[in-house]
Amino acid sequence: MQTVKLFEENPYLSEFTAKVISCEKENDVYKTILNKTAFFYEGGGQSSDTGFIGSKTVLDVQLINNEIYHFTDEPTPVGQEISCKINFHERYKKMQIHTGEHIVSGVMHNLFGLENVGFHLGKNEVTLDFNAPLTREQLNTAETEANQIIYKNLPVICYYPSQSQIKNINYRSKKEISENLRIVEIKGHDICACCAPHVKNTGEVGIIKLINFEKHKNGTRIYMACAQDALRDYQTISQNNFEISGLLCAKPYETANAVRSVLLEKEALLHTIGQLKRNIIALKSETVATSDSPLVLFEDDMDIPNMRNLANNLKLKRPQVYIFSQIGNSFNYLCAAKSGMNEFAAKLNQTLCGKGGGSDSMVQGTITTTKKDLIEYLNANIDKF
Ligand SMILES: [Zn+2]
Repeated sequence: MQTVKLFEENPYLSEFTAKVISCEKENDVYKTILNKTAFFYEGGGQSSDTGFIGSKTVLDVQLINNEIYHFTDEPTPVGQEISCKINFHERYKKMQIHTGEHIVSGVMHNLFGLENVGFHLGKNEVTLDFNAPLTREQLNTAETEANQIIYKNLPVICYYPSQSQIKNINYRSKKEISENLRIVEIKGHDICACCAPHVKNTGEVGIIKLINFEKHKNGTRIYMACAQDALRDYQTISQNNFEISGLLCAKPYETANAVRSVLLEKEALLHTIGQLKRNIIALKSETVATSDSPLVLFEDDMDIPNMRNLANNLKLKRPQVYIFSQIGNSFNYLCAAKSGMNEFAAKLNQTLCGKGGGSDSMVQGTITTTKKDLIEYLNANIDKF
């Protein structure tokens, strides 16, 4: 017996009574067939409805070999009439998004000749895939046009055309459909083959926001938000922009330029800091006397390129140069000598939990140790520094 699809007759139906035809255990869940159902199964790019059959939780609904199976956590009473309820808040949101997808796909088709080749209605993300590249300008045009379709509040009609009618309908479809062709028509805008529940009028979609787009395979993937999700997106971005506007004393529509100026200032400051560091290294190098003794230096927060510059300056004055820069519980090291540095680094790494290496005349790396232990190690392993 074929389950009656109540979601096709009335997609707004959230509570109904149905007879349990069968209930079979499969692994840890139960598969129930009802004589009629308002639960829409997983398909057309969206997950199934959830809800309750009696007091049993409906975790998933699947269409398998043309039969609708409701997966519950506990068995349902076969032969009994039972009240059922779907989580309508979740379902209605999916109806809004799915109709939103049809509006956008229709716009892309009508304006740019693009075909929708994929749709995913996830919990946190909605994506639409198209078969060709798209520009930012086209995306903006499509978004404006999609919202115009919402403002027009066009009727959305779902029906099964007869074989003779099918020949005269020019509809979009991701695949060839030979039987049970269901059409979802947005009057005057789009005709598409689809099995999912939709809202009655485009106005119910509220807002369509095309958040972003990226290259996907040989085409384009668009990230979309509709209705409450689009509003939430706008509120979040607006709040962020409001804060940036306050922090940078910039008008809300001019925050990007203000951020650009801050980044340019930062770049100039980093350049100045780099120059000052190089000056400090030159001055430090001048203060070291020429000698035959090894030199050990402890520096605060000196990066590897500056340690290398300092070592290159000092190795002209000393036979061996050992520079350590502390970062939290570890030290970066950079050591230079005429030879023997690889051997020195290997032993240092092994003794003080380190890693690193380099050439026989210069090594760099990191050790995790205390300054006390490091000094003890250097006293024992470097002569007269
Ligand atoms: Zn659809």
